Amino acid sequence: MLRGKEFIEELSKPKKIVITTHHKPDGDALGSSLGLYHWLSGKGHQVQVILSSDFPSFLDWMPGFDDLMYYPNQPEVAQQHFDQADIIFCLDYSALSRAHALAPVIQHAKATKWMIDHHLEPEEFAEVMYWDSNAAATAQLVYTFITEVCADVNGITQTVASCLYTGIMTDTGSFRFKSTTAAVHQIIAKLIEAGAKNWEIHENIYNSSTENRLKFLGYCLLNCLEVIPEYNTALFSLTRDDLEKFNITTGDTEGLVNYALSIKGIRLAGLFVDRTELIKLSLRSIGDIPCNEICKKHFNGGGHLNAAGGNSTDDLQTVVSRFKAILPEYQSYLT
Ligand code: 5GP
Ligand code: MN
Repeated sequence: MLRGKEFIEELSKPKKIVITTHHKPDGDALGSSLGLYHWLSGKGHQVQVILSSDFPSFLDWMPGFDDLMYYPNQPEVAQQHFDQADIIFCLDYSALSRAHALAPVIQHAKATKWMIDHHLEPEEFAEVMYWDSNAAATAQLVYTFITEVCADVNGITQTVASCLYTGIMTDTGSFRFKSTTAAVHQIIAKLIEAGAKNWEIHENIYNSSTENRLKFLGYCLLNCLEVIPEYNTALFSLTRDDLEKFNITTGDTEGLVNYALSIKGIRLAGLFVDRTELIKLSLRSIGDIPCNEICKKHFNGGGHLNAAGGNSTDDLQTVVSRFKAILPEYQSYLT
């Protein structure tokens, strides 16, 4: 869906543009932001990507990552960019709260807001909305935004292609999830044609683990995994102590929840992490089990049907117990 088509013409003249994405950006958040950044910069716009936080180290090879600005490090300079911007892009989020510290800044900025996103139930805060919950990744929508909405069929340079490939690859679990349609593969083929080095990107993302991170994975599998066979559910709960033992930082727990889902017969998997200020949780499911509904109703979060997240200010044990107590409600989906 495209709302605000009449605004698109604005991109024909040089503009001051800020690109934002959600807190703790993942591969799609960063891939779509940097892909759009390179395309807009190439068109003569003055563009700054501003993040509310750091991101996993397995993404620190991405073209343009040196140009990123971190709001907590330079709030005054970042604020100036927001004040002077004509356009603020909001990528890979449709609930303003997901931009964390940037949310009030975006809300009060006079610039027009352009949302490009694939999450369900978008909030109303953007003048331009290019939104499709069936899209596998926001990077897929950035691709069609460039090539279809802006009709720039030659706009996909090698740099843009590498960023968008990364976004689609990470959000589809390397082209495994149900969202990986024939259309997604066709876009991927175009991105490889444009110069995205698929093998190199896979190498950068999946073969860049440290020895410590791999040992942490072994530790979690051995000590932190709980299986609840009667509900075909499995979960990891990680205490602050577990994280400290391995000096865990942003991104080190990424993908862990999928190991719980990989157990034969398991249909719902959870990861509960004590991040000190909050308990952060991630849910993954197979079939119709609505992770987004569970997160929205019970854990202050949301997301997609089969992948969602949330948080709680209660302690780890309380949050895990609450999750277990909810399972009977979803018995018909789970068993
Ligand atoms: P993850 O479990 O990897 O953190 O997030 C999976 C998906 O759930 C994300 O793509 C995002 O859509 C959604 N998500 C994660 N955390 C939150 C949250 O706190 N609030 C909302 N609304 N969605 C979240
Ligand atoms: Mn995404």
